[in-house]
Amino acid sequence: MVGGGQLARMTHEAGIPLGIRFKLLSDTPQDSAAQVVSDVVVGDYRDLDTLRAFAQGCDVVTFDHEHVPADHLRALEADGVVIRPGVEALLHAQDKGVMRERLRKAGVPCPRHRIVADPADVTRFAEEEGDGFPVVLKTVRGGYDGKGVWVVRRAEEAAEPFRAGVPVLAEEMVDFARELAANVVRSPHGQAVAYPVVESIQVNGVCDTVIAPAPGLSEELSGQAQEMALKIAAELGVVGHLAVELFETRDGRLLVNELAMRPHNSGHWTQDGAVTSQFANHVRAVLDLPLGDPRPRATWTVMTNVLGGDFPDMYAAYLHCMARDPALKIHMYGKDVKPGRKVGHVNTYGDDLADVRERGRHAADYLRGTITE
Ligand code: ADP
Repeated sequence: MVGGGQLARMTHEAGIPLGIRFKLLSDTPQDSAAQVVSDVVVGDYRDLDTLRAFAQGCDVVTFDHEHVPADHLRALEADGVVIRPGVEALLHAQDKGVMRERLRKAGVPCPRHRIVADPADVTRFAEEEGDGFPVVLKTVRGGYDGKGVWVVRRAEEAAEPFRAGVPVLAEEMVDFARELAANVVRSPHGQAVAYPVVESIQVNGVCDTVIAPAPGLSEELSGQAQEMALKIAAELGVVGHLAVELFETRDGRLLVNELAMRPHNSGHWTQDGAVTSQFANHVRAVLDLPLGDPRPRATWTVMTNVLGGDFPDMYAAYLHCMARDPALKIHMYGKDVKPGRKVGHVNTYGDDLADVRERGRHAADYLRGTITE
């Protein structure tokens, strides 16, 4: 796996029971996954020679992020390296402009959008194709956790996105009721499984809570979301885990926001809440093994992200959290605690959603140090 973040750490964990030999390309020996994988190459994924040397002897190469340059991926494929997902699929997770165009052609509903050239063009988009200001601007590449996304209320605010020197995508500002994610896994054989559709709650542009399944979502919309995700996976030839981030609009429509072709934060609940986790199914898919059962194990599972606070030592909080809630599942990434940084998550499950949410919230806040009892 290329990339040493927490997704690689948890994918590696899922491969252990299968006896899979897992090799990692990591930026530093301190990265989350590099701390636990025995076969680590430390190097820069932006360097083709490094990638080539890393891929030697790998049966299959997969990714914990979408930042490996597409030309490098093409060169590896030309060398005969098996990349999953392949570069033609991955392009749609790398570039929001490419993704929007492809989905529009495939008839998948998306927010109205267009690549814009400069702030004056943003005004034209707002007046002619959107519903006026505000408009959402996104750099087509390199964004994450809300970085690379701006809500602009007038043309004068639109200068900053253009400074990065990356194409800028303008989108209508969707008046959504909530955000959902439809997660599916597809294998090279074309077998696919769909997880229950989840609700994902963002705070300051960062995923805070994921509720599985999305409360109150009609069977019709949940079926539509799953079908949409399966269709996207098949049309784009995705192999592995695909997260389709969706807006549920106030008038009951679904619009695709983003695609991620790797395990995803909206699927972390599956570690403790589904028969087969997203990580185990990603491993199975990239190895072209039969996929595992995606069904939920509890009525409700809630994933609450643990962000860093002012206290560097979260271990000290384990005593309280574990004693208060013996069913709590803690997943920490081994990262240095910095304010606002995602350093772990907790999963809680049960029959009473309010209780399941409260237990997750309490543990995440206690670990962070924002509450002390
Ligand atoms: P990132 O690459 O940071 O994940 P996203 O495209 O997912 O970027 O946008 C981050 C957040 O910004 C979304 O989760 C959503 O809350 C908000 N957002 C993005 N696009 C729109 C839009 N067209 N209308 C309204 N809100 C949006």
